[in-house]
Amino acid sequence: MTPKKLLLLPGDGIGPEVMAEVKRVVAWFEKAGRAKFEIEEDLVGGAAYDAHGEAISDAAMHKAKAADAVIFGAVGGSKWDKVPYAQRPEAGLLRLRKDLGLFANLRPAICYPALTEASSLKREVVEGLDIMIVRELTGGVYFGEPKEIVTLESGEMRAVDTQVYSEHEIERIARVAFDLARVRGKRVASADKRNVMKTGVLWNAVVSRVHASTYKDVELTHILADNCAMQLVRWPKQFDVIVTDNLFGDILSDQAAMATGSLGMLPSASLGGKDANGRRAALYEPVHGSAPDIAGKGIANPIATIASFGMALRYSFDMGAEADLLDAAIAGALAKGLRTADIMQDGMTKVSTAGMGEGICAELERLSQL
Ligand code: NAD
Repeated sequence: MTPKKLLLLPGDGIGPEVMAEVKRVVAWFEKAGRAKFEIEEDLVGGAAYDAHGEAISDAAMHKAKAADAVIFGAVGGSKWDKVPYAQRPEAGLLRLRKDLGLFANLRPAICYPALTEASSLKREVVEGLDIMIVRELTGGVYFGEPKEIVTLESGEMRAVDTQVYSEHEIERIARVAFDLARVRGKRVASADKRNVMKTGVLWNAVVSRVHASTYKDVELTHILADNCAMQLVRWPKQFDVIVTDNLFGDILSDQAAMATGSLGMLPSASLGGKDANGRRAALYEPVHGSAPDIAGKGIANPIATIASFGMALRYSFDMGAEADLLDAAIAGALAKGLRTADIMQDGMTKVSTAGMGEGICAELERLSQL
């Protein structure tokens, strides 16, 4: 069994607390003989700034490039509010995304059976929900030039952002979406605004071309992004994989995720292109931040970070069976009534961060004996 190289970057606030539970899960997989990991750990965010004067050191970046997968906790906190812009905690994450070329952001929206009541949508709308939003992460209107606020001769100010996409950027994100659909429900919905935007016209054409050339076994539909937003609230279960650009993906992924309940439950993955050996740079992180309001209290929900590790098992390590087992263990711990404070419901058992990690490992043990 070749060891998988894992870099853990716990970061700030609740980051180290939730990462401790990932370590517990990693230890279970190793003890059970189901995987072998070569684990490194380093600083990121405010913790790295305090130690090195920058949000991630070159040495940590070097480890990230050598790793098969990076698991990232969270960064930030008021302690670093006055730190110069280039060294602020978030700069560590931005450098990781940029230097590792992470152009594809994967945000699953899964509704665990035990938490159907936690959604603001009706039970029948979210029960059994399992969809994946694939967002283009490094192009589009957030990065296009010109990007400026100028003062016109009249004295009026004008702001400009530029939405720009080249064929190769659309093609590579479309391939990620189709590849994912092949190991899921074999359906991709591509969301754009081709009715009013030239980038939407090109997006639509390139996604169709990639589909026709390589992925005929996957069903492709095109949907206008505004209609997609409506459908996500009306009947989200109609979707399997949704692929969309940076701006629409930012909004649609938050919308889809919230169908499932708490911020403490949401994992994500950011993937780069494949190198000559077929290896992809990959970073896995919870959607939530460093939660300074609850940091140090041992009450943070570790599920988002543990589920992010589960995505690493599936997408970086090709360990689908182990990823399924971990998902089932999370669902099992919830079904047993274990709840951290953020998802607490009447009649359930309130547990600490460590208590949830222990509960998930106990479920891993139980399920693996079946
Ligand atoms: P946040 O996600 O940290 O917290 C929002 C709310 O959700 C808080 O009430 C928090 O207690 C709660 N929460 C978040 N994660 C939780 C968990 N795992 N368990 C239980 N409750 C949880 O967002 P914020 O308060 O806007 O930002 C706090 C800091 O985090 C800021 O410095 C911000 O810049 C940073 N941030 C970092 C990232 C990142 O590292 N990727 C993302 C978002 C925000």
